[in-house]
Amino acid sequence: MTLRERAASSTQRELASIDQDDSKRSAILSEDPRLSVLFELAGIFATRQDLDTMLARSLSSLVETLDAAQAGVLLLHDPADERLTVRAAHGYSLSGLQSIRLAIGEATCGKTFQTGAPQLYPTPRALAESRRSLTPDNARAFREAIIGDQSPQSAVCMPLFTGESKVGVLMLENLEEPDSFVRTDLPFLQAVVDLVALAVQNARLRRKLQETRALDEANRLKGELLSILAHEMRTPLTSIKGYSTALLLQEASFDPEAQREFLEIIDEECDTLESLVHDLLESSIIDAGLLKLEPQPIMLPKLSEETIDEIAHRTEDHRFMIDFPEHFPIVDADPDRIRQVLRNLLDNAVKYSPDGGLVITRGEHNDDEIVVSVADQGVGISPEHLNRLFDKFFRVDSGRGHHVVGSGLGLPISRTIVEAHGGRIWAESEVGQGSTFHFTLPLDGISRGVSDSQNE
Ligand code: ADP
Repeated sequence: MTLRERAASSTQRELASIDQDDSKRSAILSEDPRLSVLFELAGIFATRQDLDTMLARSLSSLVETLDAAQAGVLLLHDPADERLTVRAAHGYSLSGLQSIRLAIGEATCGKTFQTGAPQLYPTPRALAESRRSLTPDNARAFREAIIGDQSPQSAVCMPLFTGESKVGVLMLENLEEPDSFVRTDLPFLQAVVDLVALAVQNARLRRKLQETRALDEANRLKGELLSILAHEMRTPLTSIKGYSTALLLQEASFDPEAQREFLEIIDEECDTLESLVHDLLESSIIDAGLLKLEPQPIMLPKLSEETIDEIAHRTEDHRFMIDFPEHFPIVDADPDRIRQVLRNLLDNAVKYSPDGGLVITRGEHNDDEIVVSVADQGVGISPEHLNRLFDKFFRVDSGRGHHVVGSGLGLPISRTIVEAHGGRIWAESEVGQGSTFHFTLPLDGISRGVSDSQNE
């Protein structure tokens, strides 16, 4: 036999022994359903799905494998209000049980949680006795959530512990006969709930870890933002300082035209600084959840025209066009906030078309929504940057080209405002061919009136 043949035959032997191991394991598992539950639970927890999916799959696996169990619920303790809530159910409609907030000591599960000891309920009478302490609302929710018409004849409740602390309760029910669960079942059930409790603890630790990572990332971004803003602010400040120092120089004298030009530059740079500070303040207001909308019927053609006039007087290189159909719907929206979105889009259209060009503001509508778009003939945006534009602080690196001062906050703020109105915002662009930004606002309720853009 050659070396290669010998190696092949040894691999075949190993594969055959693995197959044998697998079939031996299947035989053992099918003989002992309890072992098969433990194997299945270990498999479920190894997949690291979200906690509710893991709990639902664990409960189903238990009920389907254990002869005595035909229905059940799994409740977890919510330390915020010291109540137990149902997180998984079998034989009950989970949505029907979601209103339940069980007090510690209330009925079967509440009592098991309180005592921290397993409880057997061998007869319908024992169950009814214990359920007498249910509040009327909780009792109704349990009754109405039962799937089918059989009520439990016997049950067992097991507390879930992680270390010293209790995290929840598992209740299994038999719908056919009394005395289905016996004391000798308890050690096995304890092993099961210990596994479930471990999975709960792991899922909670994983969530905490994610929160800590998100916090670290937010802190890192904040630090980055500070250095970006400091850099962005330095550009206009340097210019303001330079021109004002020049104007104050006693030994230099400038003709009135030059003086006016210096003052205009200082004025513009102050506007740039003001807009940076404004974006920053707005962003922190939104982060603090303080964005409040005061909707009222607004006429977008008019609002757009006013905003364009405001922007147009700041630039001589750009031309503006407005195109709204004659009977444009009146929209229910916050006029100041929508003006802010328009101002930001128009401002960007000007900032990012350094060679000038045409900026077109267009309005369209269908039965459900209006769409406003602002199109420019500027530098455009590459496809890989398009879907990041609305991320906080994202700015396309202009490389060694003309640097445009900005915070990278205007578009995220606009998105928050548009989405708070129930609308969407997006961009279409091609590098060197200009960009078009669109946003929608829903039409509902009183918004279905129409404005005559010709008569405004
Ligand atoms: P800012 O303009 O202050 O940087 P924004 O959030 O308004 O912040 O815009 C984010 C980035 O999107 C800009 O830095 C720019 O790179 C890009 N951008 C926005 N509008 C346009 C546009 N009309 N044309 C080209 N690029 C744009």
